[in-house]
Amino acid sequence: MVGVPELPEVESVRRQLLPRLAGRAIRAVDAVPQARFSGLSRAAGTTITDLRRRGKYLLADLDTGQDALELVAHLGMTGAFRFRDEEGWEPDAYVRATLVLDDGVLDFRDVRRFGRLSVVDAGDYADIATLAALGPEPLSPAFTPEGLHAALAASRQPVKAQLLSQRPVAGVGNIYADEALWSARINPRSRRVGPERAARLWAALREVLAAAIDREGTTFRDYQMVNGQSGRYATHLAAYGQAGRPCRRCGAPLRAITVGGRGTTYCPACQRQ
Ligand SMILES: [Zn+2]
Repeated sequence: MVGVPELPEVESVRRQLLPRLAGRAIRAVDAVPQARFSGLSRAAGTTITDLRRRGKYLLADLDTGQDALELVAHLGMTGAFRFRDEEGWEPDAYVRATLVLDDGVLDFRDVRRFGRLSVVDAGDYADIATLAALGPEPLSPAFTPEGLHAALAASRQPVKAQLLSQRPVAGVGNIYADEALWSARINPRSRRVGPERAARLWAALREVLAAAIDREGTTFRDYQMVNGQSGRYATHLAAYGQAGRPCRRCGAPLRAITVGGRGTTYCPACQRQ
């Protein structure tokens, strides 16, 4: 199965990186020039005070002694962080950036090069449009059934495409959009989601994401946690990647379609328009 890291996987990476990064000084940053890297030299000489997550972004708070900066990281499709002293890890040609810390070295490996690393003034996301327009965190009190209904009503795009836009809610990608829509019995192509269905989708999103975080994300071929392990959520997928298999709820064969240019799997019997 091929997939890209979504909120649960990124949260998993955050939890693994935080104990090793909090309080560490960054001595130097080496990076190959690429479009999605910016401002990285500003990180040298700073101290990492915290590692947070917004949607699928990792945000490292950096203290320069005078100013507050943030290192914004997005894993893209294949990005992964590896500590140089990790067993079995040898830097290869796909290491795009390296952070030299006061007690170790952290590599950013990214085969497909869709990952982002940017150092910005704290909270200044003007150059990172998706982050600037990000919806509420799905597991926070800011995400409500009413808010989700209002956000979905603001557009006539299919509900699946809206979820992938990150605007109604942060961090949902192809996998968990399919899973949540299946769970809420909502057709991915629906352009109108009323209050009752929005409330079902709200609950489904929270349930699906919380369960995936508990299981440390889904298993991916091109994706690894910071320690090289894979998550264990794949066997729990009810819709994503399951086209042709019987729906767990009604037994009808799940169908693969395209919505907003993305592969989508749903149950034509119990996810009616
Ligand atoms: Zn069904």
